[in-house]
Amino acid sequence: METLVISANDKQCAETAAELLKQGQLVALPTETVYGLGADGLNPEAVAKIFDAKGRPQDNPLILHIADPKDLEKLCHHIPESAWRLVETFWPGPLTMVLPAKEIVPKCTTAGLPTVAVRCPDNEITRQIIALAGVPIAAPSANLSGKPSTTTAQHVLNDHKGNIPMIVDGGACRVGVESTIVDLTEDTPRLLRPGGITPEQLQAVLGELTVDKAVTAQIDKDAVVKAPGMKYKHYAPQCQVVIVSGSREKAAEYIRRHYTSGDRVLCFQEELPLYAGCNPLSYGKEADVATLSAGLFDALRQLDDPSVHKVYARCPVGGGIAYAVQNRLKKAAAFQIIDGEAAV
Ligand code: AMP
Ligand code: MG
Repeated sequence: METLVISANDKQCAETAAELLKQGQLVALPTETVYGLGADGLNPEAVAKIFDAKGRPQDNPLILHIADPKDLEKLCHHIPESAWRLVETFWPGPLTMVLPAKEIVPKCTTAGLPTVAVRCPDNEITRQIIALAGVPIAAPSANLSGKPSTTTAQHVLNDHKGNIPMIVDGGACRVGVESTIVDLTEDTPRLLRPGGITPEQLQAVLGELTVDKAVTAQIDKDAVVKAPGMKYKHYAPQCQVVIVSGSREKAAEYIRRHYTSGDRVLCFQEELPLYAGCNPLSYGKEADVATLSAGLFDALRQLDDPSVHKVYARCPVGGGIAYAVQNRLKKAAAFQIIDGEAAV
């Protein structure tokens, strides 16, 4: 199969993509978070193609993307007032809500759960395509399962060339990490995955918010969890990744002492001079954390190479979008963190 890469600026782009989606085909779509691998989310055969193309475990449910926030009612029931406040404040945007699913949503989309995850993305062309297709679009991150997520059309092509009919090229993703997921099916809203909408922003609207344990700790693969995707190895290059925490100087001292040929250092731009001779790769500026979230997956994909032996990574501290970057990097490192201040 030939994979067409069509620019979002191309006049025929939206119609061609919508037509393929209506026929039950896969189309990779740009969003403000990451590129998604889209299919008609109400068509079980189309949804099955997503799982096949990604090699995604069947128990990992998909997010449905809608063009118009009002369409939430077509997919969910028991929508609490708090959900509408979140819609008002953050949609279109990088926030996914988990709510009780209506009958219309196929079991393969929700991986058999009674709930469904829904989002309205902040991307013109993709909302236009969803509206033209006339159905909610199931779209997990477009990467092959287990690989770092896709934030450019080229990343998608690298993973799926010859296996999907079309990629919409909308340039590099602005946020760069997947959407924030909040579960609204219990009395207290629960953060299942941090992302572009920060915990502080959610708390300001919701009042209270609990953080699911899968956000902060390694989850056993046989565990029963709220967001099934959280238990799988994610975001990681093939080699071992270790986070080295602590001050710039102490971390650099530790890494330079342990560095051996074939290792790489994933660091902030400001730290590059400290790692001359240690093959450093910057993923953005520590002073501007949005550049770190935007650059993280491209960097992790560059490090996903058999020639790389081990990656020493530097991780931003604090809340806001840094919280999402910490979550992805800690998962890439399987929560292996060395305290650069204490280590020798
Ligand atoms: P991805 O689109 O690849 O970023 O993955 C979607 C994420 O949403 C996975 O981690 C899923 O576990 C999570 N998710 C999707 N649907 C639900 C749901 N009904 N309940 C909880 N988590 C969900
Ligand atoms: Mg994913």
